[in-house]
Amino acid sequence: MNPTRVFHRQLRHDLPVAVSGQGITLTDAQGKTYLDASGGAAVSCLGHGHPDVLAAMHAQIDQLAYAHTSFFTTEVAEELASVLIDNAPAGMSHAYFVSGGSEAVEAALKMARQYFVEIGQPQRRHFIARRQSYHGNTLGALAVGGNAWRREQFKPLLIDVAHVSPCYEYRERREDETPEQYGQRLVAELESTIERLGPESVMAFVAETVGGATAGVLVPVPGYFKGVRELCDRHGILLILDEVMCGMGRTGTLHACEQDGVVPDLLTIAKGLGGGYQPIGAVLAQGKLVEAFRRGSGLFQHGHTYLGHAVACAAALAVQRVIERDGLLAQVRERGAQLHGLLQQAFGDHPHVGDIRGRGLFWGIELVADRASKQWFDPKHKLHASIKSKAMANGVLVYPMGGTVDGRSGDHVLLAPPFISTPGELAQIVERLAGAIDLAIAQADAQLVS
Ligand code: PLP
Repeated sequence: MNPTRVFHRQLRHDLPVAVSGQGITLTDAQGKTYLDASGGAAVSCLGHGHPDVLAAMHAQIDQLAYAHTSFFTTEVAEELASVLIDNAPAGMSHAYFVSGGSEAVEAALKMARQYFVEIGQPQRRHFIARRQSYHGNTLGALAVGGNAWRREQFKPLLIDVAHVSPCYEYRERREDETPEQYGQRLVAELESTIERLGPESVMAFVAETVGGATAGVLVPVPGYFKGVRELCDRHGILLILDEVMCGMGRTGTLHACEQDGVVPDLLTIAKGLGGGYQPIGAVLAQGKLVEAFRRGSGLFQHGHTYLGHAVACAAALAVQRVIERDGLLAQVRERGAQLHGLLQQAFGDHPHVGDIRGRGLFWGIELVADRASKQWFDPKHKLHASIKSKAMANGVLVYPMGGTVDGRSGDHVLLAPPFISTPGELAQIVERLAGAIDLAIAQADAQLVS
């Protein structure tokens, strides 16, 4: 092959060439197959090559691929929005379609700001978000995101955002606290941040319902989001829940927030919406916000060329119909329990696995050098990268990341297998992953000794 002219994410090593995908398997140009246990970055909820999704996309391309949203709407966008709103948390009235997760977060941030301008509260200018969160890589999304390493070199370009503690029970709940008390302590911290900024100057609190990529599946403690919701309501502050990764069935309910008994003002979704068949994301908005825009300026001052792309909408509509038709939310809950059991079996007593956490088919494993002290591996080992490459060599794709603890230290592995995975495939995934983890740790240990 000629030297690559693609500006890849990593410039110092070669990537295998993916040539086909079927079910939960991807195949490269050498004929090697991989079990896709993370759906890329929690994207491929129906696996690869799903015939119903492909058929819907073909039909849409034959009829109409693209019409600009300042001139037209399309039947398929209207239908997708209806399906999403019919199944959305209470009070949601409209879906704003974009091309991915970062765009969804950017749109939500701007919707929040414009909403307050529309209702005569232009003094509201602050966002509050959480450390260790990930909301995307565009500048607004990166600014609300709380991952220290990702933000560092771009800091001069980022809007000022106040960050509070994540809900990170494994490391931050004190032994003398119940999970509920810990949650209330976090709510109190948020309240004091709101007081410090001045409640009338805060626009929104932004959080992933279940923290995903950068902290390795942080599941909220009971009552935490209810406390957050009450606090936001008390001060007229919007709650933006980012379910780009954890939403659309990944945790066993269509929206993760259903399990926490809260309804956000704006809800961002993406990855599992189109399942990777097309780039698509969306912001679901409460009726009161949309109404304020309608009564006020009559427009949302935003937009991209590919908003509501017809083929993307067709793919997402097909993905969502398959999930509904095949009862896949129930299957996620059932398979999720199986996966949890397999992970407990493989890693429950593992000396270097500190925590196994998750919901549905969304699981994180946090790795530690020492279980008792929860001490992490020295970041110089890049344990996460080593696990990723060894897992690939073993024929399984997982999504490990470093910086779990504070954006710089700590390692975790994220698993987000397709909803269609069979119990046998889940068992194979865990077996191959366990081999990769042991090999990577043995190598890190050998470096320590030498
Ligand atoms: N928000 C969350 C919670 C995410 O996990 C991600 C991606 O991992 C994003 C936003 C950004 O999405 P995208 O990579 O599609 O821009």
